Order: sequence, then C-alpha cells, then structure tokens
Amino acid sequence: MVIFMSMEYKEIVIIDNYDDLEIPFGADKEDVLIDFKCKKCGCEDKVLDFVAFECYIEEEFDKETGSPIVLCPKYESDMIIKRD
Ligand SMILES: [Zn+2]
Repeated sequence: MVIFMSMEYKEIVIIDNYDDLEIPFGADKEDVLIDFKCKKCGCEDKVLDFVAFECYIEEEFDKETGSPIVLCPKYESDMIIKRD
C-alpha cells in the first residue's frame, strides 16, 4: 500500500493496489551508458548501450578491439569503447 499526499488538493490518496498499476515501458530499467573514445582526436562521449550494440554489422566493429564503432561528432572519425 502506498500513501500519496496531494499538496494541490490537500488530501491524502491511498492506493492499495500500487503493485498492479501499470509501469511505463522501460521505467524499471536504468539506461546504461558506455564510454567511447575517439581514435583520432581523443574526445570522449557516452553512448547508450542499446544504441552502441544495435544494428551493427561485422564491418562496423573495430578489428583490433572488437568494439562497435560510433562516429566522432567533430571529425566523423571512429570512436571505440574506451579502455581503462
Ligand atoms: Zn574525435
């Protein structure tokens, strides 16, 4: 059971079936960001994991590291996953 206090209407709302309420798609999942680093200028950027790994064909992975490649926004050169 969850109790909400509505400031606007100055009333207390009690919801018994809170667990049954519909949760918007993806609300229970946190976005995962992956650090990418540009091979040319060294700039770094964070890319959502599903963006980084979706829709890639073999040719779009870096041959040395196996990292998916995204484009550097400055020079349109290859950015690969940053290695520590
Ligand atoms: Zn760059």
